[in-house]
Amino acid sequence: MKKSVSVILSLIFFLWITPTIQASQASEKELKVFISVDMEGVCGVIHWEEVSRNGKDYDLFRKLMTEETNAAIEGALASGATEILVRDSHGSARNILPHLLHPEAELIRDWSGSPLSMMEGIDESFDAVLFIGYHARANTPNAILDHTMSGTLYNVTVNRKKMPEAGINALIAGHYGVPVVLVAGDQAVCSQTSELLGDVITVEVKQGIGEAAKMMSPSAACNLIKLKTEQALNRINDFKPYKLSPPYNMEVTFKDEERAENASWIPGAKRTGPTSVSFTHSQLMEVLKFFKFAR
Ligand code: ZN
Repeated sequence: MKKSVSVILSLIFFLWITPTIQASQASEKELKVFISVDMEGVCGVIHWEEVSRNGKDYDLFRKLMTEETNAAIEGALASGATEILVRDSHGSARNILPHLLHPEAELIRDWSGSPLSMMEGIDESFDAVLFIGYHARANTPNAILDHTMSGTLYNVTVNRKKMPEAGINALIAGHYGVPVVLVAGDQAVCSQTSELLGDVITVEVKQGIGEAAKMMSPSAACNLIKLKTEQALNRINDFKPYKLSPPYNMEVTFKDEERAENASWIPGAKRTGPTSVSFTHSQLMEVLKFFKFAR
């Protein structure tokens, strides 16, 4: 009799303690993922009309952008993500279709005016950053819709390194101690990002051929993005936040002289050539403020 009572008490204790242990293990394993989504690098996209609000086929391509976003979210969830924040980073920042967004993620739309720009919402609480639909820097051969931030910039360097948007945004993530673990887009942005960041998982969804491109089907691209996201997050500890040594020197070269003249009047800016202006500061955020007002 006594023995059976003690067995029952042990069983009750076991049943009571197990969920408590599981709950505390789950909270220890919190995994917060930030996803910045651009549009030019989405599989299928080849022309500016397709990523412009008044383009005839824009509705189709914003749906494909939403599907690639969801593929990344599914991959993140498969590897145990507990919180996912999506930043719509293209044009109006109102492209991803909110009603089709995976219900486990939250979405930031439109521009706040802050220098965080395509990384609005990032902070030190995140564990990993993903770039989806990204494109190469301005003037890259065999790249699809290559540009840097706007059509007015010819080139941007930070500490003499040529920067695509992925590089600038990786620096912002690095400022908060968060590594970029995956970039999806065309072959050109994948190789530029690998060159800058070193260890980063890339998902090449298309290959530029001059102004044309060879590409996989959008559904194959989504499958690959989901798979690679899960793989990247499963080895999250391998990736390092991208940092450069201060002071940070940014040089912006414009396509026309007038914009360089305007930017040269920003406090602290220095004209370095007919179309170029530079700015140096020990704080990355000050450089980002310059960049926000210069471009
Ligand atoms: Zn874009």
